[in-house]
Amino acid sequence: MKLSGRSIIGDSRGSQTDEVFYAFNPAASEQIEPAFHAATVAEIDKVADLATLAAVEYKHKSSKQRSAFLHAIADEIESLASPIKQRVILETALPAGRIDGEFARTVNQMRLFAEVAKEGSWVQARIDHADPERQPVPKPDVRSMLRPVGPVLVFGASNFPLAISTAGGDTAAALAAGNSVIVKAHPAHPGTSELLGLAIQQAAQKCGMPPGVFSLLFGADHQLGAALVTNPAIKAVGFTGSYAGGRALMDLAAARSEPIPFFAEMGSVNPIVVLAEAANERGTAIATGLYAAVTLGVGQFCTNPGLVILEGSVEQQGDANGVESIISELVKLMKESSAEPMLTAGICSAYHQGIKRLAAISGVKMLVEPSADSTGYCVGPGLLETTAETLLAERSLMHEVFGPCTLLVRTSSHAEVLELVEALEGQLTATIHGTPNDLSENHELIDALEQKAGRIIVNSFPTGVEVCHAMIHGGPYPATSDGRSTSIGTQSIFRFARPICYQGFPKTLLPAELRDENPTGIWRLVDGEFRR
Ligand code: NAP
Repeated sequence: MKLSGRSIIGDSRGSQTDEVFYAFNPAASEQIEPAFHAATVAEIDKVADLATLAAVEYKHKSSKQRSAFLHAIADEIESLASPIKQRVILETALPAGRIDGEFARTVNQMRLFAEVAKEGSWVQARIDHADPERQPVPKPDVRSMLRPVGPVLVFGASNFPLAISTAGGDTAAALAAGNSVIVKAHPAHPGTSELLGLAIQQAAQKCGMPPGVFSLLFGADHQLGAALVTNPAIKAVGFTGSYAGGRALMDLAAARSEPIPFFAEMGSVNPIVVLAEAANERGTAIATGLYAAVTLGVGQFCTNPGLVILEGSVEQQGDANGVESIISELVKLMKESSAEPMLTAGICSAYHQGIKRLAAISGVKMLVEPSADSTGYCVGPGLLETTAETLLAERSLMHEVFGPCTLLVRTSSHAEVLELVEALEGQLTATIHGTPNDLSENHELIDALEQKAGRIIVNSFPTGVEVCHAMIHGGPYPATSDGRSTSIGTQSIFRFARPICYQGFPKTLLPAELRDENPTGIWRLVDGEFRR
């Protein structure tokens, strides 16, 4: 399928502007055709106008119509499976097996949101009937439900070109909630973005959706993202990427004359706490699992474990205990590991610089230095070691280095483990490895981790985020810009909706979900009781 490199503007295409950029093949270290044309100011305005118009029409589509649209998107994506997979592998060098999995996840995620839209109870309808006889004052008829916020802007991530990008979770959630969507294409996979954008455009046309329900814009630099975030038409933003990018755009969103909700997922170090008994009982197995989690996808996951707190390992240093077996096994596995390509030149150089930054801090020991490949962006894993004392004195050691590396932290006591957890910044995940005995005695640790992370995992690893109803992929700042939300799983729909209360409304003006006869058959809280 031939790519044009032009933006998707509702049901039409953008112009072939002179300002262009190219995708890059990280495995072969070479530029890929075609050129992608940056959207003009006039095109940005046009997309904003179309999205505003479409937002009004689209929010009045029934939940069944929205659901059918999302299923149609999934169908269109499936019909383009082969060109999408070929292009994404070319642009990211991610292995075919990983792309097969992510492709399936993307399609299933779209269908899951289609079902959430159709079932409809996500709108949290509440009805409090009037009581004109109530004393001393009559009670009014008050009803409320979640309604779409208006055009949503989506920034996809480089590391999930399918599941967290053009047709990814944010887009699916925003469309399911009844919003029009504008995607700012990620510069690292523009061809993949164009193909997915075409699939959504095709589905919109087939389902009779308003043209501006979806648009995709290409930009050659940061200007496009900034222009979109500050455009008055945009009413909310979903972002996944770096802390620097997320924070810059979040500040722009807050500085608007009308500040808007900005939901950024910016990653974290995802601490793992290995409790003493677990280390002694199954140190080698923990090391094997940790190695797999750290190196999976060349470590390019926001859930990559970048900090491992080892209970009681300072005192026992040198003894033949579990902690030493974890460290020696990790060193062995990492030294045997071959270099793999990272996604972009920027991510690769940030990885090397990040490891150098950690290793330069007094009290940090490099156990495995990452190998590098001068021809491409290939890197090997890195392993560093320090003590709780050093970490507490130098908090920058807790900052994420995006890639396949982790920092092991020796502690002298359980109290020091708790002190370290208290000192952590907000995290997407936190993991504990412990025996039943370790765990039963550690309510304090769980309480402390609840303050720090969006997902707490026991005796497993944080990589691999299940797309389901209960998932939370969020956490306190700086892991995200708003720790009350998730960017993965069906609860992410709530970011793009806002509660509206209807008081004293005539039946004909009420949304269907709030009418007494409950024509949509959803779960509602009626006079304080949950009913269908
Ligand atoms: P990124 O550099 O933050 O880019 C994400 C998106 O934001 C892109 O569309 C980018 O496009 C735009 N952008 C970035 N900075 C901007 C700014 N100052 N103003 C306006 N727009 C801006 O993230 P990335 O390319 O995906 O990865 C780079 C780094 O992000 C990695 O090294 C890693 O640290 C981190 N990362 C985190 C996650 C996560 O899950 N949280 C995922 C991937 C990467 P333009 O550059 O065209 O403006």
